[in-house]
Amino acid sequence: MQFPPEPLTQDEQERLWRWEKRSVRFYAVAIPALFAACLLTFFFSEIAWLRRTLLVVAAVLVGAATVLQLSEKCPRCRAKLRMKSLMRLPARCSYCGVAFERPPEPE
Ligand SMILES: [Zn+2]
Repeated sequence: MQFPPEPLTQDEQERLWRWEKRSVRFYAVAIPALFAACLLTFFFSEIAWLRRTLLVVAAVLVGAATVLQLSEKCPRCRAKLRMKSLMRLPARCSYCGVAFERPPEPE
């Protein structure tokens, strides 16, 4: 692998931004939904089918979040990207060190 790695092309960069945006949108829905599921389970803990349904919903959300997190790779070295926080691209790839630029701020 050459060092320093070649900077990402516009296309590769945009793909990462789209992935980041998708993650943000997903968590914006999934986290409140998980929260609601916890609350409902707490208040209606005696209703077995509801409890089971909520558990399945929570498991599906967590599973989808994991798949989404693992679905993107560094365009340079193909290493799996590890997000520092849930919703933000790291500043650079932790394996090859290629820089990931921030998307242009929306006006
Ligand atoms: Zn990399």
